[in-house]
Amino acid sequence: MLFERQSFLVAGISRSGIASAQYLRKKGATVYLYDDVDDENVRSSQKSLEELGCIPLKKEEIESRMQGIDVLVLSPGIPVDHPLPVSFRRAGKRILGETELAALALRCPLIAVTGTNGKTTTVTLLEGILKEAGKNAIACGNVGRPITDCLGELGEDGVAVAEISSFQLETLTSLRPHVAVVLNITEDHLNRHYTFENYVYLKSRILRNCTESEYAVLNYDDPTVRAFAEKTKANVVWFSLNERVAGGYCADGYFCYHGEKVCPEDALPVDGDHNRMNALAALCAAKLFGIPNSSIENGFKKFRGVKHRIRKIGMLKGVTFIDDSKATNVDSTLKAVASVRGESVLLLGGKDKGYAYEPLFDALVKSDVVHTVIYGENALRILNAALKRGYTDVTLIRPFDLAVRIAFLTAKPGQNVLLSPASASFDAFKSYEERGERFIELFSRLEEEYAPAPLPEILPPPEAEKETDGEDE
Ligand code: ADP
Repeated sequence: MLFERQSFLVAGISRSGIASAQYLRKKGATVYLYDDVDDENVRSSQKSLEELGCIPLKKEEIESRMQGIDVLVLSPGIPVDHPLPVSFRRAGKRILGETELAALALRCPLIAVTGTNGKTTTVTLLEGILKEAGKNAIACGNVGRPITDCLGELGEDGVAVAEISSFQLETLTSLRPHVAVVLNITEDHLNRHYTFENYVYLKSRILRNCTESEYAVLNYDDPTVRAFAEKTKANVVWFSLNERVAGGYCADGYFCYHGEKVCPEDALPVDGDHNRMNALAALCAAKLFGIPNSSIENGFKKFRGVKHRIRKIGMLKGVTFIDDSKATNVDSTLKAVASVRGESVLLLGGKDKGYAYEPLFDALVKSDVVHTVIYGENALRILNAALKRGYTDVTLIRPFDLAVRIAFLTAKPGQNVLLSPASASFDAFKSYEERGERFIELFSRLEEEYAPAPLPEILPPPEAEKETDGEDE
């Protein structure tokens, strides 16, 4: 793509929008900026981009300028059916995202990881494994840094390990990963993609440009992902917890690959079948890059999990607090409930994403969850689903802080308070990270509040009178 003498409108001045604008200015393009939001963060990012020569536009200016703009660069936060992209599409303009810009410029091999859940975990695990083997691997995309930010560091001999979300897939056309990993597909983001079919279609786009020279690492146990094998030209490598597939699987206490024992399962220090699946996906991708078994084993051993994903915060009065704030859909909460050891009081709720909560309660009835505290904007929708399924061990308390306190007071020693909300955080927080941090802070406050009262100060016994030899006097 030629950048000089082309003009771009970067819409959405978020992390990826900023990276796109910086990248395009470096390439000599004319860059306009626009954001619906006018807050402190946006204003300060806009100011530093203006110093690079970017030109901010007001909403009312866009229409008259559109003629002179060649490409709309859309941030993943803006849906493709928002009036802005709709008007650009009508005018016959090209629309792309930051990931597409990166895909056009990337000179090194790319491993692209998508799926409803487990992307960040898998990408982080894989980056660690590749680094163990001495590769210049960088986890990028939806996790950590935008890919365009990493292009210079990656050069030609790095490996980009990119997390790709369905929002990013909306504006991707050229991406052709050397290895595309699809972890799983369950209901999510239906408030944005409308139907499950549409969401599945978007996920399948990660494979659309792959040919016989590329690889698709696919979850054999997930029927929706399994069906992708029929449509892709890429070589399929499976991973499964249920069968000895052509690819990665578990047998006799080992992670295996095509009949070979790669490393013992207990090398992986994080719990849960979902994490064993993430590990198998990472293992398959690593094997396709010729990584030795010892590096895979060391990568597993050094993995400490990722913050806000089923992380133990601490114990108070025998109750363990577990932060899984990143569980923003039903399936991820189900996985947390299945993998956390012992009985739990579950905290559920937040911003609704448009899916059914009934399957969650079908599973909770049979699980180790002894009580559920429902909070947040979607509390009544969740409560309705619970009652429909005959689940009555619930307390409904809208404010988050109070809900956490009630969950703690409900839990008995030996039980957990598990924050795994099956909902987005945006009703009360900026992000799931902020919600997780608040949970951690509330734990600390409760810790202080319930700290044992300090012992009364006991005066030291009067010092025995020293017998001096009179020198000091
Ligand atoms: P993503 O980046 O896709 O959102 P993460 O690795 O951040 O996924 O994990 C988010 C949450 O999803 C975790 O807290 C956990 O509850 C759940 N999870 C992780 N891996 C899986 C998996 N393979 N299948 C289902 N749920 C998972």
